[in-house]
Amino acid sequence: MKAFQFVEWQQPGQLRDVPVPEPGPGEVLVKVGGAGACHSDLHLLEAPAGSRSFSLPFTLGHENAGWVEKMGPGATGFAPGDPVIVYGPWGCGLCMNCRKGMENYCETPGKPSPGGLGGTDGGMAEYLLVPATRYLIPLGDLDPREAAPLSDAGLTSYHAVKRSVHLLGPGSTAVVIGAGGLGQMAIQVLNALSGATTVVAVDTSEDKLKIAKTMGADEVLISGDDAVTRIKDITKGQGAELVLDLVGVNPTLTMAAQVARVLGHLTIVGVGNASLPVNFSSPPHECAVASPFWGTIPELIEVISLAQTGKIRMLVEHFALDDAAHAYHLLHDGKIQGRAVITPND
Ligand code: NAD
Ligand code: ZN
Ligand code: ZN
Repeated sequence: MKAFQFVEWQQPGQLRDVPVPEPGPGEVLVKVGGAGACHSDLHLLEAPAGSRSFSLPFTLGHENAGWVEKMGPGATGFAPGDPVIVYGPWGCGLCMNCRKGMENYCETPGKPSPGGLGGTDGGMAEYLLVPATRYLIPLGDLDPREAAPLSDAGLTSYHAVKRSVHLLGPGSTAVVIGAGGLGQMAIQVLNALSGATTVVAVDTSEDKLKIAKTMGADEVLISGDDAVTRIKDITKGQGAELVLDLVGVNPTLTMAAQVARVLGHLTIVGVGNASLPVNFSSPPHECAVASPFWGTIPELIEVISLAQTGKIRMLVEHFALDDAAHAYHLLHDGKIQGRAVITPND
């Protein structure tokens, strides 16, 4: 089968021929409907050799959904043809966090090892080998080609919002910095989990801000000093209860610290890898800074419920497997409106 693989550090991915995997005991082979192209893949492809512990090549694509193709020996609970979304951060399944469904925070060294992100094959291929049935969530009527980004853009944003939802009552403000794939999901999740909060989206792109508005942002602002002033105005000088930085570069982290409030949450999701200076007065007193990674299995079930009831939806652009490299070029250039999804079996 054809697979879009990460072959060489600091080089674009390549389309290669690889064998169709055979599911072993407990494993499941999934026919891929959609595999989302996440900005994290670009960070990975641009990383220098030696900066990661895993070796190349492996198939990209860590946001996957499709149809069960074949159950391995002893695997039960699903049947060929079932539409499923794939939980991505594969842990050991046995440590305390894994047993709570928090495989994103598996305690076993070297885990989680997500397919498509950490040296294990992902979903930008006709078939994806999933190591256990607990990673499959039934999609019901949702189309895997549309639903795939819910497993990361959806789940990561959901997890990042849900941990702060107790702060987001009437009169509160949530700021979403970076209205791309994750940001557009975060705006909708904020409205779904806390309809009362005022959602402010900030981006460098007018196009993304227009989309943010259609996704339910109450106010949209071009990134910069004027955005800081406006957010201070909206919040009567206090700052926002929740600031989500979905970019993580120096200007966004600086802005995040300026617009967060005392006792608020400043949550860094973007992997821009800049640093935020922390001292007694900045970020504001008792503002908690966190850097969540992905989300939990129960949360993915909740995300699918929100999508099934029409409360969240990803703006998806489909690309053939042959065009995967082009999709990443467009993502790099800021020309993907929502999420690029590779559809290897179309
Ligand atoms: P994306 O390319 O779809 O969106 C990024 C958005 O940020 C774009 O709209 C862009 O215009 C905007 N932007 C860029 N610079 C900006 C600035 N200075 N100010 C305001 N906006 C700016 O990317 P994505 O797939 O949504 O991913 C966002 C980030 O989240 C990436 O760094 C990615 O690696 C990371 N990520 C983290 C996790 C996690 O578990 N923590 C999971 C998935 C993705
Ligand atoms: Zn991702
Ligand atoms: Zn574990």
